[in-house]
Amino acid sequence: MALGVTDVDLFVPDLSFVFGLASKDGACAIVSTNRLKGDGQGPYHERLVKEAVHELGHVFGLEHCADSRCVMHFSNSLRDTDVKRDTFCSRCASLLTR
Ligand SMILES: [Zn+2]
Ligand SMILES: [Zn+2]
Repeated sequence: MALGVTDVDLFVPDLSFVFGLASKDGACAIVSTNRLKGDGQGPYHERLVKEAVHELGHVFGLEHCADSRCVMHFSNSLRDTDVKRDTFCSRCASLLTR
């Protein structure tokens, strides 16, 4: 298992840009710092932690969560990332520990 952090903007088809990606086989994940910096004023480090935990969640088999405060909630903007916490909701946490 490896987690990479890159400064390069990441794109996937149909999603314009993404904050991070995880491989389906659970071997690795990558987080892009490019968009997380935003205007340079935001809580950049917190965002990076959230997106890193999010991608690790994928590596461990979690899907996206409907709870907007759960770290597994899909972020399509910095606001989404700022709203969610860096922890799993009880549902995701219970899936993780199985
Ligand atoms: Zn995701
Ligand atoms: Zn959740």
